[in-house]
This record gives sequence, C-alpha cells and structure tokens, in this order.
Amino acid sequence: MNILEKYATMEYGPSPEARNEADAWLAQRNFGEALFIDGSWRAPVSAEAFEVIEPATGLTIANVASAGAEDVAAAVAAAQRAQAAWGATSGFERARVLYALGRMLQRNARLFAVLESINNGKPIRESRDIDVPLAVRHFLYHAGWAQAMEREFPGYKPVGVVGQIIPWNFPLLMLAWKIAPALAAGCTVILKPAEFTPLTAILFAEMCERCGVPKGVVNILPGGPEAGAAIVRHPDIAKIAFTGSSEVGKLIRKETAGSGKKLSLELGGKSPFIVLEDADLDSAVEGLVDGIWFNQGQVCCAGSRLLMHESIAEKFIAKTKARMAQMRVGSPLDKNTDIGAIVASVQIERIRELVAEGEKQGAVCWQPDCALPSSGLFYPPTLVTNVSPANILVQEEIFGPVLVAMTFRTIDEAIELANNSRYGLAASVWSENMNAALHVAPQLKAGVVWLNGTNMFDASCSFGGYRESGFGREGGREGLQEYLVPQSSSKPLYRPLPELEAVEGDEGESLGIIDRTHKLYIGGKQVRPDGNYSMRVADSAGRFAGEVGLGSRKDIRDAVTVARACHSWSETTAYNRSQVLYFLAENLSSRAVEFANRLQQLTGMTAEAATNEVELSIKCIFAYAGWADKFEGRVHSPPMRGVAIAMNEPVGTIGIVAPDDTPLLGFVSMIAPALAMGNRVIAVPSARYPLVATDLFQVLNISDLPAGSINIVTGRSAELALVLARHDDVDGLWCVAESEICRTVEAESAGNIKRVWTNAGLVIDWQAEGAHEDVWLRRATEVKNVWIPYGE
Ligand code: NAD
Repeated sequence: MNILEKYATMEYGPSPEARNEADAWLAQRNFGEALFIDGSWRAPVSAEAFEVIEPATGLTIANVASAGAEDVAAAVAAAQRAQAAWGATSGFERARVLYALGRMLQRNARLFAVLESINNGKPIRESRDIDVPLAVRHFLYHAGWAQAMEREFPGYKPVGVVGQIIPWNFPLLMLAWKIAPALAAGCTVILKPAEFTPLTAILFAEMCERCGVPKGVVNILPGGPEAGAAIVRHPDIAKIAFTGSSEVGKLIRKETAGSGKKLSLELGGKSPFIVLEDADLDSAVEGLVDGIWFNQGQVCCAGSRLLMHESIAEKFIAKTKARMAQMRVGSPLDKNTDIGAIVASVQIERIRELVAEGEKQGAVCWQPDCALPSSGLFYPPTLVTNVSPANILVQEEIFGPVLVAMTFRTIDEAIELANNSRYGLAASVWSENMNAALHVAPQLKAGVVWLNGTNMFDASCSFGGYRESGFGREGGREGLQEYLVPQSSSKPLYRPLPELEAVEGDEGESLGIIDRTHKLYIGGKQVRPDGNYSMRVADSAGRFAGEVGLGSRKDIRDAVTVARACHSWSETTAYNRSQVLYFLAENLSSRAVEFANRLQQLTGMTAEAATNEVELSIKCIFAYAGWADKFEGRVHSPPMRGVAIAMNEPVGTIGIVAPDDTPLLGFVSMIAPALAMGNRVIAVPSARYPLVATDLFQVLNISDLPAGSINIVTGRSAELALVLARHDDVDGLWCVAESEICRTVEAESAGNIKRVWTNAGLVIDWQAEGAHEDVWLRRATEVKNVWIPYGE
C-alpha cells in the first residue's frame, strides 16, 4: 500500500505496548510460592496450583499456588498477631505506608498495566489510563484518612482482621479499593484475588515488602472459591468485604449470618443508560461506547440497558451502529484496541448462551462486520433490540460486550423501566437540560448516577449499590466507616420476655384506660388482623390488661404494600418531615402521664422510671425531628471539572422489630430515625408489651404522618421478623431479638440482599443509644453519588 492509499483508507497500523518487562517478571517469578503470609512467600500446605491463562492467546502463563483452608488459617493468625500493633501505629505512620504504596504503584505503573492487560485481556489503554491511576489515587487518598481518622472518627476503632475477596474484572483496582481503606483504618487484611487474575495482586505483595508494610498486615492468598469460603467462615475474621456476583454475595450473607462479622457486598448490576429527547446524541454515543464496551462490558456498573426517548431512537441507533462499526477488537496490548479479550472461556460461553436464549425470546442481535483475531477469547460488540422488559437479556447481567436497547415515551416511563431491575448499582442520564436530568437522578434506584457521563470514579466518592447490587460503600468517608466499629463495652445477652398469659376473668380488674379491642395499624387505619385472631395481654401482675391483634404473614404483606405505596413520605421535604416528627413528639408529650401509667401497669417499673422513659422517648423523637433536615449529604470535588453530590436517601421500606426492654423508648428509638430520613416503616412492637405501641395509634393519627408511612403489626415478634426478612419488597430490617432469631433473620434476608441490622443477640442500652444518633441515621440512609460535569 502506498502513502496515498494509506491516506485514503486511514487504516491504523499496530501499536503494541512493550511487554518485555512483564514477561521478564513472569519468567523469574516462582509461582509455586505465591502465598504472601506474614511477610514471606510460601507454598500452600496442599501444594496445589491453578493455571492462569492469557485470554488473548489462550496460552498458560503461570501455574499459581492455590491457598486452602490451612493457609487461610495461617494468614489469619499472622494478621491477628499484626493487628494490635498496626491498629496502634500512629495515623502519620500508617499514612506514610499508604503513601509509599501509592508512589510505588505509580513508579511501576507500566509493569502493572501491562501485566493486568496480559492477565485479564483488557485493552492497555484502559489499564494504563484508568485502572492503575485510580489504584494509585486510592492509596494516596487514604493516606490522608489514616492521619485524619482519630480526629474525624472519635470513639471508633479498627474492626480488626478483615477478609477481602475480589473478582477478576478489575484485579488491581479492586485490590486498591479494598486494601487502602482497611490499612488507613488500622485493620490487617487477608485478600484473595480471583482465580483468573492473581498476577497483579502477587506483584502488589512484592511492593508491600519493598514499602516496609509490617509483617502480617497485608496477606495475599491466590486461590479459588474454597479459599474464599474458608475466609468467609474463619471465626477470627471480623469483617468480610466482598466484590463479585450477587449469587456468591447471597451465599456469603447466609454463611456470615449470626457470626457478628461486619459485611459489605459489592455485587452485580444491570445499569440503565438513559438518553432523553434533548440529549447531545454524539456525546451520548461516545458515553455509551465507554458505558458498555469498557473492559469488554465486564463491568459491574456497565450501562448495559440503553433506554432512549422514542423520538430520537432511530437516529441514535444509527449513530451507535456507525460507531460500533469503527471499534477495533484485538490484542489487549495494542494501544489502538477498543475491545480486548474476554477473561475466560466459561465467561465467553455464558455470553453466547445468554444471547442465544435472548434471541429465542425474540431479541434481534446486530454485530458490526469487524475482524476478530483468529485465536483467543474475543466477542464482537453487540446491539440487541426488539426486547420486552422480561427478556432474559434485559433482566440478567451478561457481563460481556452486549448492549440491550429499549425506548420510552415519557420521563416517568424511563424511570419505571430503569428501576425495573433487581439490581441498583449505577445509572447514566443524558440531557442538555440539567433540570430534567436532576429530576430523574433522585428517582433512580442506584448508588451512583452519572449525568452526561459514565464510568466516572474517584476515591473520594463512595461507590456501591442499592437492592441486589449489594450494601456498604467503597471509597470516601462512608467507605472508611466500613472498617471501623464503635469502642463499645461488652453487653449482656438479650433475652426476650416470655408472653404473660392473662388470667381468665380478670378483665374487670384492669385499669380504666384500657381499650380491649386493639387492632393493627395499617395504612393510617386500625384494621382487624387477617383471620381475626387476637392475643390477650397481661399486666405486670398477670392480670388481663387488654387484647391485641395477632398479626400474620398476610398482615405484614398488607402493611408492606401500603408502605411501598406511600411515596409522599419519602418525597416530601426534610423540613416537612421534621415538623411532623416535632408534632408527634408534642402529641406524645400531651399524653405523657397516660403513657407513664401504662408502662408502670404493664412492666411494674416505678413511677419515676416510667416517667423517665416517656420523657426520653419524647426527647428522642425531638432529636430525630431536628436531624431530619440536617443529616445531609456532601459535595465532593473529584479530579475533574465538575462535582459529585453525595445525597442521603431513604433506604425505602424498613421492617422494625422492637425490643421488650424499655418498650416505649426502644420502639421510638428505632422508628424515629427511620421516619426522619423518609423511610416507610412496618413496626412489630414488643410481644410482651404491645399495648405501649397500640396506645400510640391515636397519637400517630393526629400527627400528620401520611397513611402508610408507619404501620404497626402486633403479634409474635420472632414469627413476624421472619416474614419481614423473607419479604422481597422490604428493603431493610432492624431487629432486636435473641441470638438465634438474629442469625435466622440475617440468613433469610439474603433473598433480596436487605440491609439488616440486629442487636446480635445482645442487650442494647436504649438510654445510651441517644448518644449514637449518627449511627442510626446512617443506618436509615443510602448514599447516592450524582456526578455532574461542568462545561460544554
Ligand atoms: P464471583 O462471585 O464468581 O467471584 C468473585 C470472587 O469470589 C472470586 O474471588 C471467587 O473466587 C470468590 N468466590 C467464589 N465462590 C465463593 C464462595 N462460595 N465463597 C467465597 N468466595 C467465593 O464473581 P466473578 O465472576 O469473579 O466477578 C463478576 C461479578 O462481580 C459480576 O457479577 C460483577 O457485577 C461483580 N462485580 C461487582 C463490583 C461492584 O463493585 N459492585 C465490581 C466488580 C465486579
């Protein structure tokens, strides 16, 4: 081809990145001893190894030592030995180590990037310009937190030894997201990279040696699911931080139930990419390319569901196809490559199977006529149209370069389609009208929303999901908090009080204030329980004190339905919520004597104690009324022209199972923060003292709470707690119970990955909880980061 012809075709020549440094490292490295435990390199006890392939060629590049349960135990022991000293090291010293790690990554950036692309198959442009710089940023950012921690988190301490399990799609970046905050907080770690991609984690462990990370502080264990399971099960690990599939996340939720381990889950996604009518279509197409074809679509927050306004759909699809036709699929180490190799043959098989199934269900697939390399694991960019919302390609996370397109007519329909997913990780909204985009963003069930952009990340802006995309956040202040626990004293075991069988025939002796026909409180009304069953309640002397409804599964279901429909409470202004809660406190205050009498009658406590409990309850509602319009988000300044607004949003519908001890204060201490932050509540009061809660019906009725914002279902707490735990439309569950019930509700909540808090079977001092309002407010909220770039 002569110069003129070349000029006419504008063909790219190959532009390979040099791989000699990475190859030299691979050649000299002893992968048989690739477990980094207690600061030294070891072979696994079992002597087992697994093959690591280069996806672009299909060739084996290493046989890497595979950790087993005994190796995990050795690593945990080392991490435990190191923890006290590391946790007590000054913030400044920890900051220096984190800074050194960041700088070491920076100095070895090319080696890390090339190795990552060889091992994972991702284009070098991405590993070089995104993965490695973001990993560096994570260490440098958290160096600052290490030093600021004491001042910023008084009363907190490191959680202890942490088990961290990561996936293969961003091996180094996920490692950085996990290790940097843990070290900053003073924790020691055992990190297991994914079996397909252990290489950069091994190289990172070498950097730890060079940076003077103390022995046992960072332990890296390559291995498969068994090693992961051994980490999850180990009793001396205080927290599990997991990133991976929702399926394994659910297993881990079940496995850790009742263990008292802290848990954060960063799981899958099926994120919408919404193009409004007035979007700049050319920019949106570029955004889309990044949104779905970044890392071959193997991205948890990939914009895999394109939702376009009907009026621009045809034009947008045409532009997208034209752009797709120019994409270059090929060697990950070629700097011109847009789409590299798929990580493993099982993954490419999964993509093929899903696409074939989608086609059977009516989907139409389009792929550009692009050349694929003759060997290796490559899949072309794919556009899927003609799908119904139920099509498997719309519902399932494909984790490959496959985009599914649908249209909408109105903004409301776009929001409905976007939220029609069990996931809720990220979303992208394109519009030249910022008002419209900012109208859509808060209505999307997603932890991150990018306006006129996509795949923007920074260590200062937390990342994490809603719904089955997991819970907990990584990055920013919230991310650090995941590695801290309050410096609390030990607590006695919680024992629910037995229900007191009221003696027959004592009805006449009960106090005059008793209403014997208490029903349930659902949708702002008193309703009879399904089946009309009731429970007799006794006073402290065992005399008949009243009768309450015996709530059932059906009643909980009804309460959940009305709670979910009560959008107005979540959407009203924080000022309004604050005023309603003040009013509620005032109304309770006007009946303080009556409530004190009731407490005394039922529990046998002294008049002074009863008056004190009512006073504290009023004070508690007052406090959260005050917080309702003050527990606000933050504005972050990530390194770009723009801002990221971290908004505190309600979790959604929260089930609350209240304690028997201090029955009024315990009940109020749980419902008030939930309501203050705009959640809708289904509360199950103490089974022993339900009349304390049923007396509240009238107070609630006159306090301007919208119907459905709070629902009260009396009955057997443990049974109702289980129903709430299993209900897929309940987003969060706070439950006070004995340890076995706590364990069961945690395990049963795995179905939709609820945000669960339990007392872990321990007594909560509700008077002292008054000092921990921030903890309850955080529990009542999800942080959503809305990214807003500036400029034309
Ligand atoms: P995966 O769940 O199969 O594996 C993830 C990790 O868990 C691996 O290290 C694996 O060895 C380990 N593992 C597997 N079974 C285990 C078990 N029973 N107990 C303990 N550990 C176990 O996921 P994957 O295929 O490696 O990664 C893809 C998934 O990760 C996708 O669903 C993607 O959306 C998700 N992901 C999420 C985020 C996020 O931040 N939300 C980021 C990246 C990837």
